Amino acid sequence: MAHGNAIRGTRVGAGPSGEDDRGGDGAERRRVDYFCSRGHRSRLIFAAEAEVPKFWDCPRCGLPAGLDEHSAPGANSYAAVPYRTHMAYVRERRSDEDGQALLDEALAKLRGTS
Ligand SMILES: [Zn+2]
Repeated sequence: MAHGNAIRGTRVGAGPSGEDDRGGDGAERRRVDYFCSRGHRSRLIFAAEAEVPKFWDCPRCGLPAGLDEHSAPGANSYAAVPYRTHMAYVRERRSDEDGQALLDEALAKLRGTS
C-alpha cells in the first residue's frame, strides 16, 4: 500500500522525462493505415513484432479494408465475406458433430476399459 503510493508520488513529481518516454515514443509500435472501398481510413497501431494483416474490417462500415489506398478491397473481397461466413458456419457445425462423436467414442472407451 505504502509502496504504491510512493510510486505514484514519484511519477507525478518526476516530470515528463521519466515514464512518458518509455510508454510513448520508446515503445516499438507502428501505425498502419487501412483503406476501405468507401474511402474510410482507419489507423491501427500494431506492436513492431506483430504481423500486420493484409486486410482489416473497416470499423466504420464493416467492409474489408486494405493497406493500399489505391486498390482498396472492393466487390471481390466484399463478396467473399458471406461465403467465408457460410463456410465458417458449416465448419463449425461439422466440428460440433465430430466433437460429439469423438466424445461419445471416448466415453465408450473409458467405460469399456475401466
Ligand atoms: Zn469503411
